[in-house]
Amino acid sequence: MATKYLFFTGGVVSSVGKGVTAAATGLLLKERGFNVAVQKLDPYINVDPGTMSPYQHGEVYVLDDGAETDLDLGHYERFIDIRLSRVSNFTTGQVYAETIAKERRGDFLGGTIQVIPHITNEIKRRIGLAAKETGAEIMILEVGGTVGDIESQPFLEALRQLRNEVGRENCLFVHVTWLPVIGATGEIKTKPTQHSVAALRSIGISPNIIIARADQDIDQGLCDKIALFCDVEKDAVIPMKTASVLYEVPLLLDGLGVGELIMNKLSLKATRKPDMHPWEKLVTEVKKDKPTVNVALVGKYVELQDAYMSVREALKHAALANGVEVSISWVHSADLEKDKGWDVVKEADAVLVPGGFGSRGVEGKILAARYAREHKVPYLGLCLGMQVMCLEFARDVLDLEDANSSEFDRSTPHPVIDLMIDQRSITDMGGTMRLGLYPCQLQPGTKAANAYNVPNVDERHRHRWEFNNSYRQQFEENGMIFSGLSPDGRLVEIVELKDHPYMVASQFHPEFLSRPMKPHPLFVGLLKAAKEKAKK
Ligand code: GLN
Repeated sequence: MATKYLFFTGGVVSSVGKGVTAAATGLLLKERGFNVAVQKLDPYINVDPGTMSPYQHGEVYVLDDGAETDLDLGHYERFIDIRLSRVSNFTTGQVYAETIAKERRGDFLGGTIQVIPHITNEIKRRIGLAAKETGAEIMILEVGGTVGDIESQPFLEALRQLRNEVGRENCLFVHVTWLPVIGATGEIKTKPTQHSVAALRSIGISPNIIIARADQDIDQGLCDKIALFCDVEKDAVIPMKTASVLYEVPLLLDGLGVGELIMNKLSLKATRKPDMHPWEKLVTEVKKDKPTVNVALVGKYVELQDAYMSVREALKHAALANGVEVSISWVHSADLEKDKGWDVVKEADAVLVPGGFGSRGVEGKILAARYAREHKVPYLGLCLGMQVMCLEFARDVLDLEDANSSEFDRSTPHPVIDLMIDQRSITDMGGTMRLGLYPCQLQPGTKAANAYNVPNVDERHRHRWEFNNSYRQQFEENGMIFSGLSPDGRLVEIVELKDHPYMVASQFHPEFLSRPMKPHPLFVGLLKAAKEKAKK
């Protein structure tokens, strides 16, 4: 079978839910027996989002092979339950860097290098690479940004060319748009969608399917109007009202016949009947009334919750496994330093300190860890959250008052968190951290080992600093347990406190491997302890 391509573009506004829609569609196709791969094409010029501020871009999602990618890849992995690799995400920055390197090498033999064909060729080469590497029967490609953006034009042009090269019968363009509502009349408007489709058509692409998003019910009349004005078949306009539960999206799309529509349009035959049962069960569970546990998430990018997308999802997965509802209170760590926000922390059933970079707000996180230790509040630390747990312990339990990470204080007398030798000479910030999957051996009998219930795990990393081994003995003698270590014993991967219901932290990011149906053990452990606390 020739590889089939589904291209997802976005219209009218950004954040229209294109990533979730693409991911949910991927699930529908996987459920019909197809080997599905997903690729995100990001038109911005950064080489990857690794060096971008979470305020600008939200979370950086890390893959097994250490690729630092767009947060939409998290949606793909969570919905489709696949493991993606470096080829699954590329940016304008990568496309130009590669093309310019070739030009410098003389590969183009004196030719003039142009957007068409050189840049579009490089875009198509990368799509082909992903198709080949994944062996996908169906490739889902999501183009970042909104149709009409200057940056995305070369990408759309490349897709237009690709359609002719692989055959029109093997391609579908799915345009996801937004239907705004005029407040005064409550009327849903289709004009922005019409304009956005007109923009697409002006570059030679007529969408085959339009997924029209809105917060309201969208009636058939509106769909027919969109079909007429946008030159799309009536049954190919999908009215997609905002779901109250994220994981309901695949069920809604399935109910609207999107799976069959795609099968028909691509002349595909499902090799098995989709079983959406587990998802139905999951959504029913989510919607049930359950006791609530309150988690204080103490971070520094809390104004933009997308910065902690996978952490939030992992908490939701673990809550379901515990039969509770999780309510997250977003606490700004810098506030805690100014004696603000403590009422929220004090009311919480658990404290979670996620990853982060740079010194702003670190002292507040250390205070949050101290509060959790002293008041025996369940605590989960992720990456920086492990480092601050160790700093707090060093300062207060070991009386090493000036203990710090050399990331925040280069001349600290007690660099409890320090750079490994091989990180010291690095000057480039992009892509040079300890990234991706590394093995971790669990120490039998510990809370971590009990939570995982297996002796060895592989987890995704994204950090530069490590626990400084010269302090290990002192920590152990005073009640800290190193419950996860690298197989050679050199790197501390998980720490936990002895006399505490659940104070566990990892140097890696467990949130990236949590799935709706496979909640992550460390998160499940946290919410189990939080549930106990809430009961009391
Ligand atoms: N800034 C810390 C380091 O680089 C922690 C990174 C993180 O939390 N992802 O080691």
